[in-house]
Amino acid sequence: MAVRRKTKSVQTVLKLFHNSHNAFSVVDLVEKFDGQMNKTTVYRILERLESEGLVHSFTDSQGLKWYAKCQDCTAHQHDDIHPHFQCKSCGKVVCLPDDYKSPELPNYQIEHVEVLITGYCPDCK
Ligand SMILES: [Zn+2]
Ligand SMILES: [Zn+2]
Ligand SMILES: [Zn+2]
Repeated sequence: MAVRRKTKSVQTVLKLFHNSHNAFSVVDLVEKFDGQMNKTTVYRILERLESEGLVHSFTDSQGLKWYAKCQDCTAHQHDDIHPHFQCKSCGKVVCLPDDYKSPELPNYQIEHVEVLITGYCPDCK
């Protein structure tokens, strides 16, 4: 795609991420934009934002996909390897600011790291 044209739907999704520090699951997102855009559109927009380095995705303990805002990523280069925290009570997921140090694994090539910490958030503790 030569022209980086942002449709209204893309802007709407992007705005939600900019206004929140929380992550959103695909189920939340589809529900939030219900009536504005269909499921397929939401999925397509998320994929596009991820490939542009604007959001990152990860999977929770139930196998559900979540998306959250990136800090300083660029297209095709995500630098936000950090743990995520999921509250077992309210289900909220947040990005943890700590850098995750990958273990040194000689002879292995690490492509993707996912760390999910579960427990109770400050509101539910
Ligand atoms: Zn990223
Ligand atoms: Zn909670
Ligand atoms: Zn994150």
